[in-house]
Amino acid sequence: MGLNRNIYPQSGYVYYTLSGAKLVATSWDELAKKLQEFKKLQGQNISEEEAFALIEEQVCQREPLMCRERRPVDLSNLHKSTPGSHQSHVTRALAWLRKKALENQQRVTSKVDQDQAESRAEICFKCPLMSFYVNTCSTCSASLHQLREAVLFGTGKPYKNLGFCKLTGEDLGVAVWLDEEPLKNLKAPSNCWRCK
Ligand code: SF4
Repeated sequence: MGLNRNIYPQSGYVYYTLSGAKLVATSWDELAKKLQEFKKLQGQNISEEEAFALIEEQVCQREPLMCRERRPVDLSNLHKSTPGSHQSHVTRALAWLRKKALENQQRVTSKVDQDQAESRAEICFKCPLMSFYVNTCSTCSASLHQLREAVLFGTGKPYKNLGFCKLTGEDLGVAVWLDEEPLKNLKAPSNCWRCK
């Protein structure tokens, strides 16, 4: 399932990182290796399987014909968590991202422009309900990266200086880009752009 590695990709063996770097290779194996090396330079060790998962997610967005069927992101390895804990928030944000990635695949999401995303990001950055991802395991980090790119591919870059919202359970680096109905009946700060 997923990426058919026997087909030569029209756009070549290419992977774009969140920071905008372009990794180019002559095979999928080489591309996965380059991605692992790139991540290592950023202080993140990912396995070959995780590198392939990231590549596959991006290539399937870029060239759907390369993929037989999109493989759902495996969240089964997430740590067990207690409600209200940091890890449960991370799990919730990842589940939200997964839902948005599927919606994006079905082309039912729409995005706001950069100015609006920027002003939302500034509000969230100062909001006490915004929490950074800390001590996330490599599986969670890889899933986060993969899902963020899957939702926003081709439209914008996730805000890496934002974590998740403890109130809404959404990943803010992506949420600020989405054009969605406001959430109701939540006790949000008065300047919250996401809640009514
Ligand atoms: S409550 Fe609203 S402003 Fe605060 S972090 Fe969540 S979405 Fe952003």
